[in-house]
Amino acid sequence: MTAPSAICVRSLEKTYGGPAPKRALKGIDLDITQGSMFGLLGPNGAGKSTFINILAGLVNKTSGSASIWGFDIDAHPRNARASIGVVPQELVFDAFFTPWEMLEVQAGMYGVPKAERRTEELLRVVQLWDKRDAYSRTLSGGMKRRLLVAKALVHTPPVLILDEPTAGVDIELRQLLWTYVRELHARGTTIVLTTHYLEEAQELCDTIAIINHGDVVCCEPTTQLLARIDEKEILVDLESDLDQIPADFARFRARLDGPRRLAVQVSRKGNDVGAVLSALSASGLGVRDLSTNDTDLEDIFLQLTRAPHNDAA
Ligand code: ADP
Repeated sequence: MTAPSAICVRSLEKTYGGPAPKRALKGIDLDITQGSMFGLLGPNGAGKSTFINILAGLVNKTSGSASIWGFDIDAHPRNARASIGVVPQELVFDAFFTPWEMLEVQAGMYGVPKAERRTEELLRVVQLWDKRDAYSRTLSGGMKRRLLVAKALVHTPPVLILDEPTAGVDIELRQLLWTYVRELHARGTTIVLTTHYLEEAQELCDTIAIINHGDVVCCEPTTQLLARIDEKEILVDLESDLDQIPADFARFRARLDGPRRLAVQVSRKGNDVGAVLSALSASGLGVRDLSTNDTDLEDIFLQLTRAPHNDAA
C-alpha cells in the first residue's frame, strides 16, 4: 500500500495572462508522501514558485487539481491552507512589528486560540526570544529568515514548505536552519523545500523532483537518483562529421555532442566500456581521441534540464 499523500496534484496548469502569456506549469502530476523530506529542484524560471503559490492560495491555477493533506484547494480552501505553512523567498516585513507581535497577529489570522499559541516556544526555537520586542526592521537578514520560519509554523501545519530558504544566507545560519528543519521532520512534519543548490537537496531530501520549463522531468528517491552516478560518459572525438547516431550504438544511450563528438553513457560496473570499444571498431568510424567523463548529480540535473522544450502558451 502506498503511503498517503501530503500533497497531490494532477494535470496542474498555470498560464499567466498579459500581452505575452506564459505557460509556467504545463499540466504537472506530483505526489508528495506524508512524512517525506521532499526537494523540488529546478533552474530559475522553472515554475517552482508558481507551484508553491498555487498551494498557498496566492496564485490561481488555470486548470487541474491540487490537494493538501487530503483537502482539495477548490472544495476545501480553508482546510487546505491550514495544512501548510510557507516560508517565502522574499523577506517581506512590516517594519514596525516586533517578532512577538508578528507571530501573535499571524496566529490570530489562523484563528489559533490564545491558550494554544506557541509564540514563546517558536521564538525560542528560532533563537529570537531575546529579540522578541525589537522592531523587525532592526533584525539582521538571518534573523528575519528565522522569524519567517517561526511565522509559517504558528498554526502547527503538518506540511512546511520552504521556498529557496538559504538563497543568500551564510553557512552558519544555513546549518542552524537545517538542524531545526531536520528536528521538525523527525517530529513528523512533512517538509517540501525548493532550491537550486543540488548538494542541499542531496544532503537533506529523501525524494527529489526536478522541474524544468513547467514540466516535472523526474521524481524519484534520492538514492535512486544518485545511483545514476554509477554511470560515466565515454566521449569519442571523430575524424569526420556525423548527422545521426550510428546503428552500432543503438543499444547504448548515446547522443551527438556536436557533429564530431559521440557521447555514450555507460555503467561503471558491467563491461559496457569494452562493448563501446567493440561497437566503435565495428562501426569503422575514424577516432581522433577518446576521453571519459564521470557523472555527478550536477550532470544528471543538466541532462534532465537540457532537454528541448516547447515554450508555446
Ligand atoms: P521559479 O520559481 O522556478 O524560478 P516561477 O514560478 O517564478 O519559477 O516562474 C515560472 C515562469 O513564469 C517564469 O517564466 C516567470 O517569468 C513566469 N512568471 C512568474 N510569475 C509571473 C507573473 N506574475 N506574470 C507573468 N509571468 C510570470
